[in-house]
Amino acid sequence: MPPKKTPTRSRPAPQPVSVVTGGAGFLGSHLCDLLLARGHRVIVIDNLITGSTDNVAHLAGRPDFRFIKQDVTEHLYLEDPVDYVWHFASPASPIDYLELPIQTLKVGSLGTHKALGLAKSKGARFLLTSTSEIYGDPLVHPQTEAYWGNVNTIGPRGCYDESKRFAEALTMAYHREHGIPTRLVRIFNTYGPRMRLHDGRVVPAFVSQAISNKPITVFGDGLQTRSFCHVSDLIDGITRLMFCDHESAALPVNIGNPQELTMLEFAREIIRATGSKSRIVFRPLPQDDPKQRRPDISRAEELLKWRPKVSLAEGLVPTIAYFRARLALK
Ligand code: UDP
Repeated sequence: MPPKKTPTRSRPAPQPVSVVTGGAGFLGSHLCDLLLARGHRVIVIDNLITGSTDNVAHLAGRPDFRFIKQDVTEHLYLEDPVDYVWHFASPASPIDYLELPIQTLKVGSLGTHKALGLAKSKGARFLLTSTSEIYGDPLVHPQTEAYWGNVNTIGPRGCYDESKRFAEALTMAYHREHGIPTRLVRIFNTYGPRMRLHDGRVVPAFVSQAISNKPITVFGDGLQTRSFCHVSDLIDGITRLMFCDHESAALPVNIGNPQELTMLEFAREIIRATGSKSRIVFRPLPQDDPKQRRPDISRAEELLKWRPKVSLAEGLVPTIAYFRARLALK
């Protein structure tokens, strides 16, 4: 007689725990939503200098969500086990880092050091949100991950560019020296609900000007290019990278939408999408404003089977609705 099989009961996998630095920011808060939907317990650490509790107010009171108001440049101590550290904290718009150059340098250097230290002590996987800014005013187009960049270290954008370049170097050093699993994503221009109305970036600027029928302020001749990725595509790409187990996953990956347009074309698209009566006016080009930017996403396509799905016309619909609601509250 065959031996009786003892019935095996599959035990539920323990709930993964994610720490999101900058989790009250535009991108960080969208990541929190996605992680919670996937069953993670989420701990946000944010000092709210550019983030806002409004972005995570809908999560307050959930047992699987915790918010800690702390500057990530200070020592991070948590009792909890941690499986994933997502380092999103940083001022990210040109006017923010112009106003906060020292905090920007500190969060990229000291903050990354603390976040990596947390990952090391917990045996967690770590992801750094780097940026297309590390390519500076690029001399290679579109930008591949193999391009080393063209950055003015002492210019007004240097504080952001160099802090992220340092953060990349530190992340690779922790990976090589301590063997911790790390991921580096280079984020290109991203837009969507929860961007700050007055963060000075082109999407909130043009959309709020268009909604109010005020002049649209195009900087320079408007022939500089950018490529805009909807936040849902971006967060999808970033989570794929964190959970990717391929041996090359520690190397940088560009995530962005390769559809490139000039700022003049973008202004016209915003006027169309909002049905605005705004006219276009020209204002001086800020120093070191990159002339062109478009991601080469071949690596993300191959490694992560990822490519953006949301067209600019589609993505602008919820974005414009969000800004209309924010402006109506004012
Ligand atoms: N820009 C513009 N008008 C504005 C704000 C920005 O023409 O009111 C331009 C800016 O000069 C840059 C592009 O839009 O060429 C994107 O600027 P943003 O600040 O969004 O981010 P960047 O890609 O430069 O980091």
